[in-house]
Amino acid sequence: MLIFKLAADIHHFMISQKLKQITVGFVPTMGALHAGHMALIKAARSDNDLVICSIFVNPTQFNDTKDFEKYPITLEDDIYLLEKSGCNVLFLPSLIEIYPEKTTRQADYQLGYLETILEGKFRPGHFQGVCQVVHRLLSITIPHKLYLGQKDLQQCLVIKKMVDIEKLDVEIIICPIERESDGLAMSSRNRRLNKAERANAPNIYKTLQLVKAGLRPGIVDDIKKEAIDNLTARGFKTDYIEIADAGTLEAIESFSSNISLVVLAAAFVNDVRLIDNIIFMPGITSRI
Ligand code: AMP
Repeated sequence: MLIFKLAADIHHFMISQKLKQITVGFVPTMGALHAGHMALIKAARSDNDLVICSIFVNPTQFNDTKDFEKYPITLEDDIYLLEKSGCNVLFLPSLIEIYPEKTTRQADYQLGYLETILEGKFRPGHFQGVCQVVHRLLSITIPHKLYLGQKDLQQCLVIKKMVDIEKLDVEIIICPIERESDGLAMSSRNRRLNKAERANAPNIYKTLQLVKAGLRPGIVDDIKKEAIDNLTARGFKTDYIEIADAGTLEAIESFSSNISLVVLAAAFVNDVRLIDNIIFMPGITSRI
């Protein structure tokens, strides 16, 4: 696996690859890699000639500096996993490579309501930071396809919007959520959970499943409240439980539809904030 640290070097390399008609799949990450990231690499591997992964913990998308400071860094293990998964190129930039004009320059993408709901509501500025870094990474790595995880569904929609706004020539592929055997969505932040917190954390997914199973025609407020009460009783602090149109993330107030829905949650286990979601078609039992 080739490792590049300089934006100019990897950019020149990518231009040379594209001139040879080589197809390129890109997986941006913040490191502390796990099987969820590896599933993205695997998908990119099977669709493209060349797979690039980036590891960069992006300060502009952290609204909470403590969360940024505590973000796990496991570079040696990450390189080992990437080598094993058949990743061809790793981009490992420093801050100055991504933000040559310093991080203080604010991004201003017109993301509309997507920026103010769910994660956007609880993490102001987060999605501007996400767009800023992904836009920069795409302009450096110029891939054909960009691989993102459904685990961060709102982020997928936001990046799609940014790609449209900026008219970037890249196809977005969304990969399903990889879970631990007890249902917990894999996440780099899971490494910060102690034993008791780790044992409790799958209750987020269990609660989402209960919401999905409990949906009946009519108003959905009661079931959301029940779900929050359930998490509170188990020691979580819930930012939101929402039931929304899976295509737009607009909340539904009453349930009757034949559209694809998503149940989403964000909750703290002590000071570790976890998110999860389930996408489903009402009336169809299997998960999509
Ligand atoms: P992160 O390193 O957390 O920024 O994640 C990098 C990419 O991996 C994002 O597109 C995430 O949505 C995706 N990802 C994270 N966790 C999972 C998971 N459990 N299953 C599938 N994709 C994931």
